[in-house]
Amino acid sequence: MPNSQIPAPVMPDTKTADATPIWFDPSLCLIGGVWTPACSGETLALVDPSDGSNLCQIARGGAADIDAAVAAAEAALAGDWGRMTALERGRILTRIGQLVLERVDDLAALEVRDVGKPLTQARADAVALARYCEFYGGAADKVHGETIPYLDGYTVYTLREPHGVTGHIVPWNYPMQIIGRSVGAALTMGNACVLKPAEEACLTALAFAHIAQEAGLPAGALNVVPGIGAEAGAALTAHPQVHHISFTGSVATGALVQQAAGKNVVPVTLELGGKSPQLVFDDADLDAALPFLVNAGIQNGGQTCSASSRILVQRGVYDTVKARMSAAYGDLTVGPAADDLRLGPLISNRQKDIVEGFLAKGADLEIAGQGQIVDSAPATGAYVRPTLFADVPADHALAQQEIFGPVQVLIPFDTEEEALEIANGTEFGLVASVWTRDGARQMRLAKKLRAGQVFLNNYGAGGGAELPFGGVGKSGHGREKGFEALYGFSQLKTVAAHHG
Ligand code: NDP
Repeated sequence: MPNSQIPAPVMPDTKTADATPIWFDPSLCLIGGVWTPACSGETLALVDPSDGSNLCQIARGGAADIDAAVAAAEAALAGDWGRMTALERGRILTRIGQLVLERVDDLAALEVRDVGKPLTQARADAVALARYCEFYGGAADKVHGETIPYLDGYTVYTLREPHGVTGHIVPWNYPMQIIGRSVGAALTMGNACVLKPAEEACLTALAFAHIAQEAGLPAGALNVVPGIGAEAGAALTAHPQVHHISFTGSVATGALVQQAAGKNVVPVTLELGGKSPQLVFDDADLDAALPFLVNAGIQNGGQTCSASSRILVQRGVYDTVKARMSAAYGDLTVGPAADDLRLGPLISNRQKDIVEGFLAKGADLEIAGQGQIVDSAPATGAYVRPTLFADVPADHALAQQEIFGPVQVLIPFDTEEEALEIANGTEFGLVASVWTRDGARQMRLAKKLRAGQVFLNNYGAGGGAELPFGGVGKSGHGREKGFEALYGFSQLKTVAAHHG
């Protein structure tokens, strides 16, 4: 369907708390520019985690829909989209970003209901999505190949070319931000995308696709197939005509995705979460550190790949940090996302069960602080109390495993060497931060910490379209964000001309 025929979205009245904020038909897939039901005709229920109510039905896409989406992406590459210059692609990305900015409130209203994000966080995610589109839109015509000095009589240069069809498996915790950093970068380099959002959170993926159409993205450049991971997701990652896969989610599913990609010998970017530490030394500026120590752990209910779930504190300030974090936890309130408290519900009662299982594992530990669930929170919602554990042994399950809930552990240490050993002592390595006024220590630890990002006297969970992001170890591999993502979503061709 030509983009000019796509009706403009009807804006909802987002001010009415009970009104559904969905301005499009959420039960459809987008394939080749056409909104269509799943081939099976089946749908899945989407649940509002604030109260457990049924929000709407989404398409249950499967292998046949993925086949059609991949074919549509190939057609786009052979057609208008494949012929576009980098400048034109950049302008479309920039226009998408502008439209996203105009719709921040509408996108946030979707995320409040779908993911249970407090309104402030949902708005921040929508603004971040716009920022990715702006950043990548501006970068589109600034990714160059190079010329390489070689033998006499030769001219050698490199070209950066798209992979072709890229598959994007997006989780439920930050749908907008992850679509921005992954689909945004892939489109910038001229790939055609097939996006499989999480079955528990796909409304903003669909909304983004509507907005991209409105901004003039050619049919087939972005296709969206909602569905179940083991069905639509597995079909996408195993598809022989998919040339690159970007996955964010659990270690277990990431390993399956890598196996599937391995069978087709295609590159994979895996972003699999972590157990990210903050190291607080005796000389740290505690007033500056305190807000980051707590917020990096409880933001988005702790359902953040780069959440800081381990707080390592030197003995000289340990009691002070414990007391101040304990007080901060006492001020935390949890309730329905529309109430815009510090924490909303978790994504689902399934996730609540996982987190409560971890809390039970901490029965032998001291609870140093806990937030409160407000009385108005429905019993059917997925609420848990944010919890701070103290004096946690570094090898305890709560200090080793990713919880993906609002749970932090305090671990005391004596020396820099001990802090480093504890910080590097998990199987993950996504983000770390160091709070100290000692510049030499900052430099030493920045080099020795096993993490994809190190923050010195700050903590940037999730932030920064410009900053390359990704992990080591079980946190995954490949880098998203920044120009690194553009290199990842392209392949280098070397051209060697012999002209004598
Ligand atoms: P998953 O890793 O299973 O899901 C992430 C994405 O992968 C979703 O889109 C999911 O689809 C899809 N998926 C699931 N199975 C397959 C498959 N076989 N092939 C291809 N894609 C698949 O995570 P969960 O949602 O089950 O959450 C479990 C845990 O994972 C959390 O407790 C947390 O620890 C971690 N996690 C980490 C995230 C991160 O940002 N690093 C994000 C989300 C979870 P669908 O949702 O439809 O099943």
